[in-house]
Amino acid sequence: TRTYVVTGSASGIGAATKRALHAQGARVIGVDLRDADVEADLSTTEGRDAAVARVLELSGGVVDGVIACAGIAAPAPITVAVNFFGVTAMLEGLLPALRASSAPRAAVVSSMASLQPVSPAIVDAALAGDEPGALAAAAALAEQGPELGYLAYPSSKRALSRWVRRESISEAWAGSGVPLNAVAPGTVTTPMTQGLLGNPEGLAMVDAAVPMPLNYHQPAESIANLLVWLTSVENTHMAGQTIYCDGGADATLRGDDI
Ligand code: NAD
Repeated sequence: TRTYVVTGSASGIGAATKRALHAQGARVIGVDLRDADVEADLSTTEGRDAAVARVLELSGGVVDGVIACAGIAAPAPITVAVNFFGVTAMLEGLLPALRASSAPRAAVVSSMASLQPVSPAIVDAALAGDEPGALAAAAALAEQGPELGYLAYPSSKRALSRWVRRESISEAWAGSGVPLNAVAPGTVTTPMTQGLLGNPEGLAMVDAAVPMPLNYHQPAESIANLLVWLTSVENTHMAGQTIYCDGGADATLRGDDI
């Protein structure tokens, strides 16, 4: 039986991933603010440390897969804390437990939003591991209103996809035999997007951005199944990728620019 850690397991993509893993007979240690095996706030250092410690206890120090889904899209600095630092700290904290597995795998959830305009100040500080600096840059933008504050979200995801790309070929990850990848969803129907898709203006904005979405908005399962494969024993050689599973949003936004 493989043991997986899924963050954000209480809702949306994380909950669907937990279900898909259970259906395969895997053991899942869910991490979330509430309704989880490990209840912790991944926006803080203390919460991350406590979550890692509890997971190590529950798993006995051996983890076969880590899937980081927890994330938020608030136009505020906390979005950078959860989406970038919460994810990277969990992965780094659980790396010793992954190394104890015979087929360790890790995957995170980025976003098609990583292709949108970003704040270089947030992205650079995040990749430098400077959490106070990244949060300060996000706070300075948020003070100028929600439109600039929103940059925290695409910036956190751009930084996360780059971090995955860099770390996947490092001594720590490739050197330990751990495939590390990201998935980038398009518009997934979860509590995160309920408000946006539930009002006509929001819906029109989303649909104008990607005029011909393949099979329209996605169920959480479309991402969960991909995360399950990326962290399966079968995935021996995919590393450093951000896989856009987005109804063609990447093809729309980036066109030939790949
Ligand atoms: P969701 O809101 O349904 O689930 C997110 C989960 O993360 C929640 O259970 C929440 O409690 C948890 N979480 C938030 N902050 C946390 C914290 N500080 N500590 C611990 N847990 C915390 O949203 P979702 O749509 O399932 O999103 C999952 C991931 O997918 C996120 O990283 C999101 O950015 C990404 N994503 C979603 C979409 C979409 O359209 N829904 C698109 C692209 C990317």
